[in-house]
Amino acid sequence: MLKIFILGKNIYEPLYFQRNFKERFKGFICCVKKQNRKGDKKMCGIVGFVGKKDASPILVEGLSKLEYRGYDSAGVAILKDNSIEVLKCKGRLKNLEEKLEESPIKGNIGIGHTRWATHGEPSDVNSHPHSNKNESISVVHNGIIENYLNIKEWLMSKGYEFLSETDTEVIPNLVDYYYNGDILDAVMKATAKMEGSYALGVICTKEPDRIIAVRKDSPLIIGVGKGEYFIASDIPAVLNHTREVYLLNDKEFVVLTDEGVEIFDENKEKIEKEIFHVTWNADAAEKGGYEDFMLKEIHEQPRAIRDTMASRIIKGKPIVLDKIKLTKEDLKNYNKIYIVACGTAYHAGVVGKTVIERLARIPVEVDIASEFRYRDPIMDKNTLVMIISQSGETADSLAVLRESKKKGCRVIAVTNVVGSSVSREADDVLYTLAGPEIAVASTKAYVTQLVAMYIIALYFAEVKETTSKEEIESIKEELLNLPEKAEKVLENKEILQKFAAQNYMHKDMFYLGRGLDYAVSMEGSLKLKEITYIHSEAYAGGELKHGPIALIEKGTVVISTITQMDLKDKMISNIREVVTRGAKTLAITFEGNEEVEKSVDSAIYIPKTLDILSPILSVIPLQLISYYVAKEKNCDVDKPRNLAKSVTVE
Ligand code: GLU
Repeated sequence: MLKIFILGKNIYEPLYFQRNFKERFKGFICCVKKQNRKGDKKMCGIVGFVGKKDASPILVEGLSKLEYRGYDSAGVAILKDNSIEVLKCKGRLKNLEEKLEESPIKGNIGIGHTRWATHGEPSDVNSHPHSNKNESISVVHNGIIENYLNIKEWLMSKGYEFLSETDTEVIPNLVDYYYNGDILDAVMKATAKMEGSYALGVICTKEPDRIIAVRKDSPLIIGVGKGEYFIASDIPAVLNHTREVYLLNDKEFVVLTDEGVEIFDENKEKIEKEIFHVTWNADAAEKGGYEDFMLKEIHEQPRAIRDTMASRIIKGKPIVLDKIKLTKEDLKNYNKIYIVACGTAYHAGVVGKTVIERLARIPVEVDIASEFRYRDPIMDKNTLVMIISQSGETADSLAVLRESKKKGCRVIAVTNVVGSSVSREADDVLYTLAGPEIAVASTKAYVTQLVAMYIIALYFAEVKETTSKEEIESIKEELLNLPEKAEKVLENKEILQKFAAQNYMHKDMFYLGRGLDYAVSMEGSLKLKEITYIHSEAYAGGELKHGPIALIEKGTVVISTITQMDLKDKMISNIREVVTRGAKTLAITFEGNEEVEKSVDSAIYIPKTLDILSPILSVIPLQLISYYVAKEKNCDVDKPRNLAKSVTVE
């Protein structure tokens, strides 16, 4: 079999090539590999325009093309007559449009933004663009400035003042600090101080003919029209105006005027880049070249894991959680934790139970929100409740939160949406920084919920001193390696594709695991049900013989996960039990465990990590199995029948 790898730093070109290639040469395996780039962040939307036309309608139209990315507020800044006018507000883009209709802002240069809050809840003041005090510099930003607190304190010591809770507001102020007659220079100096991820559009009243743009780990493209130029976080935003774009790499600085575009590297050396001609339609572009949002989100997981850990887990330092304030005294008083959630979030909770009990030595019960509410659980002020909800609006989970507070319990929320109901009503919050998840079946939100469970468990263990410093350090260190390892898992898809092609016609599939592998199997099984409509069940390996083994017959598909090394032999015995009864078996296990091949039909290897951390890696092949089976069955993977993304009804 011929296998072709297509490499590229910008994923668009290879993905597009891959699609054409697959159509023309059926039967060949064609894999796309990204080179040396941390996954792109897809959060809010940025648009910028410079030309002869009125900027604000072009900005709003461009932003509307980025709606699929999700947002909670929108704004524009327009340069005219050596001053900047900003209009921004919380809510839908429509609110901004209405405001602009009431009081139009004229001008031929501008930047626009739709925000997906990461720091500070959605509000008018936290919306972008952000400016320095005298409003001579305005900035739109996509991403997260991880060291913003340090920069903020430093700038405050120099007399700078801040209005918002965002990380972004440090940027216009830092640029202001470095401004000495050359805005490009000032942006270069400011970004040199910034850690984290950013795509930026910057305008300055003192150089009113230009926009400065730069990116690092957040997407940004430049649209090249005739006498008009654009910046945008994604291609659909410019497609109505041009199909000629520059795909920027990290730390490439761009100066846009109505006369053209100049691109520089970090040392201010000019760079010549090739224009990329876009031939696909807006729909394909929204998905970043992937066939579906779900596949795109599966590939965003290394980035999502990295972001959720960033600035919270730092080697050699205690865990930093700015929105969870439990002291040693508080934690001593809690004799029980309830983790309550629904669906995929519940499965993250099942992992959380094991991890928190093991590291922080507090008994944890995990329950389904709709059940918990009606079973009159025993809880009081010594009970800590943890609610996990991607959207932060899940009706059953929200009801549990409110009930728990009435009973005097402290509630921690783990959610992906800043400013959501759950985040506002809980006492403490840990945000998972997965970015907007569009596919109904959760993938990147789940892995970030797992990361949140580890962070909370380590935090409790540190405060309570229940695990040795050395062990905590080694877990932290390995957590920080997981984004790279997750990238590796994503490179290894052919066996999964083959497995899907050979097994998509089955009516049932079974998932087996022990300990944390059982918890992950539950999630794998749910993914399969959700998007392929194949009936499936997850069983604890040791439970098989107590009933479920009666279901196994010749040809029954059994997918097992074997990453808990203390349970490996027992798990292999369980697999043999189903093999004896005719099952077709696939195992997911660590590299180095090749001996499992003696017991299964095929094996998928994931990079070795600590047993306790394996769920973050082992779930990825399970997600991909469901994805490829769904594709074989021609199912709509992004919008499976009967399901909604955010379940706001009880
Ligand atoms: N971190 C910034 C904020 O919370 C930008 C978020 C985004 O990418 O929309 O405002």
